[in-house]
Amino acid sequence: MFFKKQKYIKNMVVMLVLMFALGFSINVHAEEPVDNNDYSNEVVPGFEKMARWSYTDSTYAALTLDTSGKATGNCEVNGYQNVTTKIIVYTYLQRVDGNEWVNVSSASHTANSWHAAYQDSFGTQSWGHDYRTRNSIYVYSGNSYENIVFYSNVHHYHSVGDTSNCIN
Ligand SMILES: [Zn+2]
Repeated sequence: MFFKKQKYIKNMVVMLVLMFALGFSINVHAEEPVDNNDYSNEVVPGFEKMARWSYTDSTYAALTLDTSGKATGNCEVNGYQNVTTKIIVYTYLQRVDGNEWVNVSSASHTANSWHAAYQDSFGTQSWGHDYRTRNSIYVYSGNSYENIVFYSNVHHYHSVGDTSNCIN
């Protein structure tokens, strides 16, 4: 009886230790700092990497508006060497008019290569709107292609008080 009670206490202690350890680990996890890095294109442990695109390795788009409102778009596409044969890029400068994005200007380029990088000047834009670029690319491998659409950052080219042409 004495030994049985000893064993019971021992089990209780083990259980308490486990509960503390578990509670501690949950606490540690909750206090992890916010990580703003983009891991969307990396392998997450425990998950299979999903096949995303066949001929396109990475894409990049950016929009800048200088202080006078001159808009410049950048678009970069990286395919795979010996796989990707042609890249056609359509870049549309868009702005918010009321509740919707409308095209303001556009540019297109063709690269007979596995890599494409273009910068387009869209001229001076009017104050009072949100701006972005919509990038539609056709990435070829021989006669096959894939179409990918992606957007640049949004540029809020308006006063803080005027949100009539703002998506937020
Ligand atoms: Zn805005």
